[in-house]
Amino acid sequence: MSIVVVGSVAYDDVDTTHGNVVDALGGSASYFAVAARFFTPVSVVAVVGSDFKAEDRQRLAERGIDLRALEQKEGRTFHWHGRYHEDMNKRDTVSVELNVFDGFMPNLLADQRRCDYLFLANIAPSLQQRVLSQVSTPKLVAGDTMNLWINETRDDLIKLLSRLDILTLNDEEARMLSGESNLVKAGRAILAMGPRMLLVKRGEYGVLQFSKEGMFAVPAYPLEEVIDPTGAGDTFAGGMMGFLARSGRVSESSLRTAVVYGSVLASFVVEKFSLDRLFELTWDDIDKRYRAFIDLIDSHHARWITQ
Ligand code: AMP
Repeated sequence: MSIVVVGSVAYDDVDTTHGNVVDALGGSASYFAVAARFFTPVSVVAVVGSDFKAEDRQRLAERGIDLRALEQKEGRTFHWHGRYHEDMNKRDTVSVELNVFDGFMPNLLADQRRCDYLFLANIAPSLQQRVLSQVSTPKLVAGDTMNLWINETRDDLIKLLSRLDILTLNDEEARMLSGESNLVKAGRAILAMGPRMLLVKRGEYGVLQFSKEGMFAVPAYPLEEVIDPTGAGDTFAGGMMGFLARSGRVSESSLRTAVVYGSVLASFVVEKFSLDRLFELTWDDIDKRYRAFIDLIDSHHARWITQ
């Protein structure tokens, strides 16, 4: 089943201790779509400027990503500049230029309004709400947000939360939204705000899932070298939702497998700058790492219990 994603398609400048890139393809919707496309068809709803390169459109289109609702407007594409610390879990936003994103009014095409799976990537909650109100009977709605919206448009965000099946946040955002410094208390407090499930992304420490059934934790796949963590969260969401949409089932057990697939996809994107690693990835690479991942986390506890 196909997924509709609304979010940013951007040009990023990124500095890490391994080097830097300038005007590299990025944006929450780009990372999400390329990751999810390994599992299922994806439609992108976003806006780019007249500087958006034909070759970047081509790279997305070649993967079979539906770009009919990727609007091109006069002006410059959304531009983000991030700088990572030596500890890659920490980064500073050097600058954000909204450009054509300023005044963006997403409008879904008739077939997109009937989608079963919707991902509201990191954009203003009022825009996320606008998109959600255009979709008729979605089977699953997931959304992401960031510190900017938690601080500046909290009321809009809170209104949206009860309409989400899955909310994804990083640990710092979870603490900020809940006002709790302990992550377990933060998770419980956020669930009480309305989303059916919460996935807290903890960088190199992995993902913690909260639902009324309990908690589930998955580590990040240990890598010798992380080159650029940009987009890891959106890539995680793409792998996770892509798997759910392909399986057609949203249960506690399918969600656990989905969280592992999301973590597998995220473990690839950080190996190179921008979307470079995702573009060269094959299903065989994903399958091999999925198996290695399962091996990593399998404690063989069933063997102990039955002995
Ligand atoms: P992540 O590393 O998962 O936080 O995602 C990074 C991506 O989000 C980058 O490619 C940015 O272009 C994009 N991004 C950063 N800030 C914003 C924002 N305020 N609105 C939309 N997208 C953003």
